[in-house]
Amino acid sequence: MTVKNVLVIGGGVTGTVASIALAQKGVKVTLIEISPEWYGVGHGITVQGNALKVFQNIGALDRMLEHGLGFNDLNVKHADGHTLVHMEAPHTGGPDLPSTMGALRSDLQTVLVDMIHDLGVEVRLGTEMVSFVNKEDSVDVTFNNGTTENFDLVVAADGIKSKTRKMLGSKHDKQATGLGIWRVVTKRTPEMTSSAVFYEGPEYKAGYTPISEDLCYAYVLTDPVRPDNGLSNAQEMKRLLEGYHGEFDFIRENIQEDDYMNFQPIEWLFVDDEPWHQGRVIMVGDAVHACPPLIAQGAAQCSEDAYLLAEYVTREGDMETLLTEYTERRKPRVKIVVDASLQLVEWEIHPDTPGANPAKLMGESLGALTQPA
Ligand SMILES: Cc1cc2nc3c(=O)[nH]c(=O)nc-3n(C[C@H](O)[C@H](O)[C@H](O)COP(=O)(O)OP(=O)(O)OC[C@H]3O[C@@H](n4cnc5c(N)ncnc54)[C@H](O)[C@@H]3O)c2cc1C
Repeated sequence: MTVKNVLVIGGGVTGTVASIALAQKGVKVTLIEISPEWYGVGHGITVQGNALKVFQNIGALDRMLEHGLGFNDLNVKHADGHTLVHMEAPHTGGPDLPSTMGALRSDLQTVLVDMIHDLGVEVRLGTEMVSFVNKEDSVDVTFNNGTTENFDLVVAADGIKSKTRKMLGSKHDKQATGLGIWRVVTKRTPEMTSSAVFYEGPEYKAGYTPISEDLCYAYVLTDPVRPDNGLSNAQEMKRLLEGYHGEFDFIRENIQEDDYMNFQPIEWLFVDDEPWHQGRVIMVGDAVHACPPLIAQGAAQCSEDAYLLAEYVTREGDMETLLTEYTERRKPRVKIVVDASLQLVEWEIHPDTPGANPAKLMGESLGALTQPA
């Protein structure tokens, strides 16, 4: 086996899936996470079939489905509540898996973290890499406690603000999309059993995904700066959702001040024209491609990155060749998602663009992703 001792940087979905997949192949994995507490993020997430396929491959899916909700449909609606298109969402993970699962991020992370501990991955919280030196067949890493250790490979899954990306001298940095997003985890009705997206409202797109028997994750896209209007989070979200009806009448009425809710500008990043690795340090996940969540594929692409990387670096062969082949395989697939997501952002901001057809583009891009990763 080419690598035996790997350092993974970052305990998000990319870093945890990479750690599990590597450990399952017999690699000794050390996972460092900068946060001193490895807490689950409380938000909901729309997880599509190709991510479910990865979770199935590493043996996590059944436990995830005990918490989340799998389904196959997608409703495209007008903001007044009437259905424009009802379709079966493409099965990006193959016909045997649900096309989508709604879940709490913290529930997914709990399953992954439990597996990490069961597999004997060494987890170091409050730890970061401050420098590294690439050697012939390995890399010396110095940590923030001043110690230096040698690894066969460093997998940097440190997210959109990746310090590793800067250390590697990338010219790429995160960019604003011109959109912001409000998200809430709140009550749903029994009829809300699949995702729905609502167009042509007073803000940009709004939507929801059911994440359990009685909860959903709802969002509305809006301007990238929160207005200084003195409203609480719940009041602001209700205000933004006033022009959305159908199921949103229930959601709006039931949003509570203590529901998990936040606002953030949407950013993006794609390291398309530079290598993702230098010597024995490779970047994966949002560190090299943060997709605006317009087709809800970000975490799916991250999971695919992580799982396939473990497959490549445990093959026999020259590591430079393996890492180059890996990146060449990943970039075109990630590009489908980034390009479609940015086009959808553009159409949100300029809905009168001739030929704008978000539902068609969403269907086509997810259709393309039904091909194996
Ligand atoms: C508003 C929004 C909604 C989204 N909705 C969806 C969705 O519905 N479906 C979907 O599939 N995707 C969605 N995404 C995308 C998805 O959340 C991301 O693609 C994914 O979570 C990125 O995972 P990651 O592990 O690469 O990065 P992160 O989740 O950012 O994890 C990086 C980790 O590295 C740690 N870290 C950072 N720096 C260091 C360091 N120097 N040393 C050690 N550790 C470090 C961080 O603390 C963090 O734990 C959404 C994104 C946004 C912004």
